Amino acid sequence: MFSKILIANRGEIAVRIIKTCRRLGIATVVVYSEADADSMAVEMADEAVFIGPAPAAQSYLLADKIIEACRQTGAQAVHPGFGFLSENAGFARRLKDEGIVFIGPNPEAIAAMGDKIESKKFAAKAGVSTVPGHVGEIDDTAHAVKIAEEIGYPVMIKASAGGGGKGIRVAWDRKDVEEGFPAVRAEAKASFGDDRIFIEKFIESPRHIEIQVLGDKHGHVVHLFERECSIQRRNQKVVEEAPSPLLDEATRKAMGDQAIALAQAVGYDSAGTVEFVAGQDRSFFFLEMNTRLQVEHPVTELITGVDLVEQMIRVAAGEPLAFTQADLAIKGWAIESRIYAEDPYRGFLPSIGRLVRYGPPPEGDTASGAVVRNDAGVREGDEISMFYDPMISKLSTWAPDRMAAIDAMGAALEQFQIEGLGHNVPFLAAVMDEARFRSGHLATSYIKDQFPDGFRGTEATAFQRDVQVAAACAMHHRLAERAWPGRGRDAWTVALGDQDIPVRLAPTAQGLDVKLVEEGRTLALTDVVWRPGMGVFAGRLDGQAFSAQVRPAAEGFVVRHRAAEAQVRVLTETSAKLHRRLPPRQAADTAKLVLSPMPGLVVSLDVTEGQEVKVGETVAIIEAMKMQNIIRAERDGVVKSVGAKAGDSVAADEVLVEFA
Ligand code: ADP
Ligand code: ADP
Ligand code: MG
Repeated sequence: MFSKILIANRGEIAVRIIKTCRRLGIATVVVYSEADADSMAVEMADEAVFIGPAPAAQSYLLADKIIEACRQTGAQAVHPGFGFLSENAGFARRLKDEGIVFIGPNPEAIAAMGDKIESKKFAAKAGVSTVPGHVGEIDDTAHAVKIAEEIGYPVMIKASAGGGGKGIRVAWDRKDVEEGFPAVRAEAKASFGDDRIFIEKFIESPRHIEIQVLGDKHGHVVHLFERECSIQRRNQKVVEEAPSPLLDEATRKAMGDQAIALAQAVGYDSAGTVEFVAGQDRSFFFLEMNTRLQVEHPVTELITGVDLVEQMIRVAAGEPLAFTQADLAIKGWAIESRIYAEDPYRGFLPSIGRLVRYGPPPEGDTASGAVVRNDAGVREGDEISMFYDPMISKLSTWAPDRMAAIDAMGAALEQFQIEGLGHNVPFLAAVMDEARFRSGHLATSYIKDQFPDGFRGTEATAFQRDVQVAAACAMHHRLAERAWPGRGRDAWTVALGDQDIPVRLAPTAQGLDVKLVEEGRTLALTDVVWRPGMGVFAGRLDGQAFSAQVRPAAEGFVVRHRAAEAQVRVLTETSAKLHRRLPPRQAADTAKLVLSPMPGLVVSLDVTEGQEVKVGETVAIIEAMKMQNIIRAERDGVVKSVGAKAGDSVAADEVLVEFA
């Protein structure tokens, strides 16, 4: 066994690997870029080696720097995590030449599976069912049209070297192919330096189901069942679960057998994932194999009790697998939510910045018999930078059955407090409460189907409205008691939306009774955990436990329970009446302004003072999260002034251009 391992990665996955190494008594080294000098991974590792500037191409992607760091520290093996160098056969080969162990599969397996055309051919030979289509390169657009018509529409045009959801396009008819083929080819050339394209049948409304495999250097391969990852946005996974609600025992066995056959054919000797698309009728077709640890591996660990990072380390050290297929079983159900720094209320735009508050739910066993796990690489006060993946953490829950795991996820998300940047926690909470997700009728089109106009939060249920009223009253009562001890009044009016709700507040031994005067019922609030300044309000309402996100707002509070958010004001009756008579506040006239939709770096400002601009023309390009976002004029006009220049950092809503 190794005594020291170097982790060639950052963030949550570096922290995840360090945890297992610690448990196994293995010393750890992490490499870090300028942006990560004070990171949690650097703090936790036994040693840390600086390898260069923030952009990955100048640090985490430099094999030379990583090998140099191994020499310097005496690390005997490298765990690459995922992303970066994890699927780079050349890197694995170089380590081997240097006498350093790569904690991953052999370079030949990486090379064989790294290319979609080659891996599809390989899979077909190994008896794996592949998506019907043309397994080979395509010369030109005319050839592409001919093949598409042979396969039958719709088809998917794919870059052989593609990955991360890039280089993929659906074509529904001849025109789509004529447009799409050159477009995918150009994107593939630009992103991967490889313009080989192939075409396969587009499986309509499919599900994404993948099999976790694990092999050793002695010819043993097992599978650790499936994960379903159908909740995707732009072909990128957002929520994953294990097992899949679609599979029956026979299909599970058939998929597992095929995944093992493929792994064996390619001499696979580490943890890897065989991805399939599946029809609602449980037909399934091979997509690709990822020759690395997968982002969503925690759900598999939760249902099998196997630590995949430990197994990767053991097999890399030459140990044979200590268990067989017959020793493995699915226990319970697990869900993972990827918590991203993106603003769901603004089209999921990236939202970088400082984690002014970061309060994850407690990990471990919950009172209701579930388990909460949070894989994170950040602490309160850390920055989510624009250089890397915008993931804040991966929140997972386990429970004996699917419904309980979903409810545990909903409850854990309720308690997750993040402030300082936009994040998708409310969106994830809405998914957990949504009927189709709960029913398990999933498809990769789920988000587009259920949220066709984007995300705007959800309408409060009766219970959630009660939570909003009761929490606001309790916070108000607490603040009033502090200001006027023992002399606080009890009659108030709660202003919620366009409703005025008269209430009477009566402290009880366990909490507070909120009497709804007109409805004639009482909200009994007990077990309250909240002090002024806290951002999460926890308690029981009529016995039912809940947590809500709260923050002060003008004369009241904003209370969010899951995805239902409301501004709630607790006023005297007179004051409430006055409020109703005030004219509604005018929103600022922003029609003449072009604002930056997110914080980022101005790459270019493409207009000048006095210039005439037409709707749709590019005004500026802002870079955030490795993505360039083109900001276009939403109307015709003449530029009156320009508020930023190339090279500036801008905040969200900062004025880029004002029209006359
Ligand atoms: P999956 O593993 O399920 O296929 P992805 O394709 O999203 O999911 O995972 C790989 C991606 O993870 C990489 O392409 C990269 O963008 C991202 N990644 C790489 N390193 C890290 C890291 N340290 N933390 C979070 N994400 C990372
Ligand atoms: P990547 O390397 O970017 O992960 P994949 O080949 O795994 O590319 O495809 C990503 C996603 O695109 C899949 O999870 C699935 O949702 C969708 N997809 C890929 N191929 C097909 C297909 N033939 N039919 C329908 N959907 C597909
Ligand atoms: Mg994939």
